[in-house]
Amino acid sequence: MNIQNYINGKFHNPIENNWIDNHCPANGEVYGQIPNSTKVDVENAYIAAKSTFPLWSQTTLEERSRILIRISELLEANLDRFAAAESKDNGKPISLAKAVDIPRAASNFRFFGNAITQFASESHESIGQQAVNYTLRQPIGVVGCISPWNLPLYLFTWKIAPAIAAGNCVVAKPSEVTPMSAYLLGEICNEAGLPKGVLNIVHGLGGSTGQAIVEHPDIKAISFTGGTATGAHIARVAAPMFKKLSLELGGKNPNIIFADCDYEDMLNTTIRSSFANQGQICLCGSRIFVEEKIYEQFKTDFVARIKALKTGHPSEADTNIGALVSKPHLEKVKEYINIAKEENGIILCGGNEVTVAGYENGYYLEPTVIEVPNDDCRVNQEEIFGPVVTIMPFKTEDTVLQMANKVKYGLSATIWTNDLKRTMRMSNQLQAGIVWVNTWMMRDLRTPFGGVKASGVGREGGFEALRFFTEAKNVCIKY
Ligand code: NAD
Repeated sequence: MNIQNYINGKFHNPIENNWIDNHCPANGEVYGQIPNSTKVDVENAYIAAKSTFPLWSQTTLEERSRILIRISELLEANLDRFAAAESKDNGKPISLAKAVDIPRAASNFRFFGNAITQFASESHESIGQQAVNYTLRQPIGVVGCISPWNLPLYLFTWKIAPAIAAGNCVVAKPSEVTPMSAYLLGEICNEAGLPKGVLNIVHGLGGSTGQAIVEHPDIKAISFTGGTATGAHIARVAAPMFKKLSLELGGKNPNIIFADCDYEDMLNTTIRSSFANQGQICLCGSRIFVEEKIYEQFKTDFVARIKALKTGHPSEADTNIGALVSKPHLEKVKEYINIAKEENGIILCGGNEVTVAGYENGYYLEPTVIEVPNDDCRVNQEEIFGPVVTIMPFKTEDTVLQMANKVKYGLSATIWTNDLKRTMRMSNQLQAGIVWVNTWMMRDLRTPFGGVKASGVGREGGFEALRFFTEAKNVCIKY
């Protein structure tokens, strides 16, 4: 199926009629083409957004809220269609797309549709100066949203929903690897009555289409989620234009398991935090540290449970591990397994490609556990972003804390313990934007979301996102 750009409420071919093949990860086949958009397409999207901006920013909060909630309802009504499209495009199990990705995209619109009606600003009476100060939170204008392939609609809408709720108009680009659900979103927006030009979706490559959004002098803010190297590049391009930037980047998150945890709960969740979405979630706990006392027991149980997981075609209801997103990504992940062997890592399970009968050209890889000899090795330091985790034992709280923090990233961390004091000590000291204790990826959309160090700059989520997508203006009135 071929897809088109969505500009000014209509679907358009790219101006230069250039296209990119879209591959299905489950069987390796090309199943459609997507626009290879140029600067001119981005400019057209910008013009549509710019000409709609003043009107959209003047709509009442109730009206904006109503439309966002309507989009949410329509996504829910179209759950099966969106989940099938997302699973085919990305390789993720359809069960996951149905239970998590598409419902979360719907929640993003509902949440920000409600949040905007509660978004209050401060006022201060300046006693003694006979003045009152208040803060206006004004939309920025035209903003850019650029998202990755791992949670396509989930992350695309995590940006778009607050941006338009706050009164901005948007030029957005989903990943060229997984454009399908963003394409379908255009139809839904029209049906929900979103005025044309509020949301414009341009498809294409990062280095050209994405770069054109970042370089556009009048797109004043960029919300980006993707790799750390791309984020650094975007920051360099955007800095001379003083753009507002939100960068949600890579992770190499520790999963720290103490002997006093609820073992069964920890084991079940650790399987999910290691391999959900084929390990292609920025929040996955890809470095597992286990207290020495229970290390051997954990190793045996963990590996046995992983061996029972089914790697298979994403559309089969009982598939646990689907296909990796692309051939180049599969090759990258396999290369890390070779690096692990060179670094004297022990492959406890997995490590090989899987041939799924009938889909021999799909990009399947066994869930892989590597026992590493030390925490400095490359597989323990670099983001692999696939179904690969490292494990190693630790003796004390201090040593594990040091190892947990000894990476360039700082997105999330998970601790398993029933010791309250230890929970407090560790949570305070872990270098991460999110710390989960006795759970993983439990999200409340009101909370700030983002990373420290090479995992990003800025926070999204809740009012943080609405703050990002608005400029604060102080008005001081002397009376
Ligand atoms: P990527 O950086 O290659 O691409 C992300 C998006 O940026 C895509 O739409 C791409 O086309 C675009 N892009 C690439 N080069 C660009 C440029 N020069 N200018 C503008 N846009 C450009 O990342 P990816 O491979 O799609 O996603 C995987 C990465 O995303 C991983 O590192 C993962 O950790 C990270 N991620 C982070 C979060 C988070 O919330 N922190 C969430 C999901 C994924």
